[in-house]
Amino acid sequence: MTPSTILVIEDESAIQELISVNLQLAGHNQLVATSAEEALSLLNEARPDLILLDWQLPGMSGIEFARHVKNNLLTRNVPIIMLSARSDLQDKITGLEAGADDYICKPFSPRELITRIKTVLHRREQLSDACD
Ligand code: CA
Repeated sequence: MTPSTILVIEDESAIQELISVNLQLAGHNQLVATSAEEALSLLNEARPDLILLDWQLPGMSGIEFARHVKNNLLTRNVPIIMLSARSDLQDKITGLEAGADDYICKPFSPRELITRIKTVLHRREQLSDACD
């Protein structure tokens, strides 16, 4: 598997750390932001292969951030996996409608996280192959 660059947006340091360790183990490169605003400025310079996005962030929410990413021609094809403690069906639907490609409820298992990342990245590769 070729290493991918994952942009992780999470304001809770314990969860950020858990994600970071597991991405490293899975061989991914990562960019880290603790707010949506910080992530938006990172996106001006870097083009990650996938975004792992917390819903509840200080300032701009994950939902607003996802809409920004999907409304921008330069970033709209970057897949987003949303992380949230909100497990209601309506919340999941809101997340998916905002542009998330997948949705993971907290607390999550590291194995589930890595597997879902792999699946979303694989799906994206297949889509780009189809357009070549
Ligand atoms: Ca949070």
